[in-house]
Amino acid sequence: MSIKVDHVSKLYGEQRALDDVSFEIERGNIVGFLGPNGAGKSTMMKIITCFLPQTEGLVEVCGFNVAEAPMDVKTRVGYLPEHNPLYLDMYVREYLEFIAGIHKIPNKKKRVDEMIEMVGLTIERKKQIGALSKGFRQRVGLAQAMIHDPEVLILDEPTTGLDPNQIVEIRNLIKNIGSDRTVMLSTHIMQEVEAICDRVIIVNHGKVVANDKAANLTNYQNKQVIKVEFDKAVKSNVMASIKGVTEVKKVTESVWLLGSNANDIRQNVFDFAVKNGLTVLTIQKEEQRLEDIFKRLTS
Ligand code: ADP
Ligand code: MG
Repeated sequence: MSIKVDHVSKLYGEQRALDDVSFEIERGNIVGFLGPNGAGKSTMMKIITCFLPQTEGLVEVCGFNVAEAPMDVKTRVGYLPEHNPLYLDMYVREYLEFIAGIHKIPNKKKRVDEMIEMVGLTIERKKQIGALSKGFRQRVGLAQAMIHDPEVLILDEPTTGLDPNQIVEIRNLIKNIGSDRTVMLSTHIMQEVEAICDRVIIVNHGKVVANDKAANLTNYQNKQVIKVEFDKAVKSNVMASIKGVTEVKKVTESVWLLGSNANDIRQNVFDFAVKNGLTVLTIQKEEQRLEDIFKRLTS
């Protein structure tokens, strides 16, 4: 197990930012850590990376207790904090050599060259960090987090504030570097999770409200939505009379979304159409998206 969080709570004064949180992350997984602002994501990440002590509970990283063996944890963890604090007046190489020095990495220059190449900073390597775009600064942050070749990477909102192209680039980078290590990343972007994460943990008000594979989360909904298109206009109250339908939403006069708690209601819709002299032009199950699940669990 790469990360083990067992009954962890964190109080800031009176405020309970984390409330009895438990989860485990297996070695080699990329896990999305989701939750609305203020849910406690950054707090959890700071505890895992030994930047903040928990109030209660146990946290282990690669088998080391963060409270008892912080040095053993820190050598195995790379951390990209939320606002990626960088020294803006330092040069890219200078900064990375400085970080390599902190980690006492032998042959610093060679390692810095490797990192620059790995995160795609080659054309910008001679610039001051302050002169870089946000996407390239984020690459410097990732290089910094990985320079000591950690087993575990903790990335706090690594793509927030980037433009759509930069998001895709950073996402691909994370996917590549995550192929042989454990990654925990927080994000608001659902497509990000669907694109790169093996597993999703959703937190709300300091509590874990979901912990599963993304595919399972979108399935274990007992609600089903189907979209149906008829050849003519149909009235809302008539749609609501279809057996099994609990919710009706109009798309156009002849296209409707039908919600149900029952099993498949498509047969009922066909029967209804036949009885009312309507022709069904299309009928399909609507995929539940992770975004809908997120909204339901956190609102
Ligand atoms: P997230 O990263 O999910 O947005 P945070 O972990 O940053 O959430 O914050 C969780 C809660 O704890 C928030 O209500 C926030 O205001 C509070 N909080 C975070 N850091 C501190 C701090 N240093 N002192 C007091 N309260 C804090
Ligand atoms: Mg945060």
